[in-house]
Amino acid sequence: MDKRNTFRTRKPVRRKDRFKPVELTEEERLRQAERMKVSIEAWKPRTELGRKVKSGEITSIDQILDAGQRIMEQEIVDALMSNLSSDLLMIGQSKGKFGGGQRRAFKQTQKKTAEGNKPSFATMVVIGNRNGYIGMGYGKSKETVLSREKALRNAKLNIIKIRRGCGSWQCGCKTAHTIPFKVVGKCGSVKIELMPAPKGSGLTVAKECRKILALAGIQDVWSKTFGQTGTTINLSTACFEALKSLGERKVQPENIESLGIVDGAKA
Ligand SMILES: [Zn+2]
Repeated sequence: MDKRNTFRTRKPVRRKDRFKPVELTEEERLRQAERMKVSIEAWKPRTELGRKVKSGEITSIDQILDAGQRIMEQEIVDALMSNLSSDLLMIGQSKGKFGGGQRRAFKQTQKKTAEGNKPSFATMVVIGNRNGYIGMGYGKSKETVLSREKALRNAKLNIIKIRRGCGSWQCGCKTAHTIPFKVVGKCGSVKIELMPAPKGSGLTVAKECRKILALAGIQDVWSKTFGQTGTTINLSTACFEALKSLGERKVQPENIESLGIVDGAKA
């Protein structure tokens, strides 16, 4: 018998697989939906908006977003949005020898105290339905799991609607596979420009921004970045700001037709 195998009882976790986004099977998805339904039934709303959602007066997230109301309870999003998927952004890095500094989902920081070092963990979660809605949130805690929960909650509270269209003059197909015009987002020293791209170009952006755009349901985009883009927190926040500004711009009625603009979910 191979000597190695007599010692190893458990398969070691490969570094690469550790923070892979979890893809659910159909059965698991149904079970999760069932669990979600139960937790929403048990939910006691604490805000006016929450009560309206629970009583069925508000049936769509658009009613809240279009009125510019602030979501203060994450259950509102759970109740109104189905099939949301989430992903962690790699905002941290591993420490130590042997090429430490590899990207990790949790940013680990320390406070010096009399008793010793007190570590804390921060992470960023992005959620989206891959069809026009996206949210991003930051969470920090003494535990990794708690920081992820906080970030997920903040992502749900920060959900926004994305405007899509086809603003590429090389394409002009009038379907909502890219963005209708160029937008810019900034955070810290980081600046990102997102530009409409023809069909089939794919997401030509930094890895973490690709996660965000994919969850927003954008298929093609070109980009340029400026500044310290290695700071993933600032880069992804800038990307989110750029997406937000898509919906803030005023569009002439005739251009809605010619650019194939769709706000939110595609029909
Ligand atoms: Zn097109």
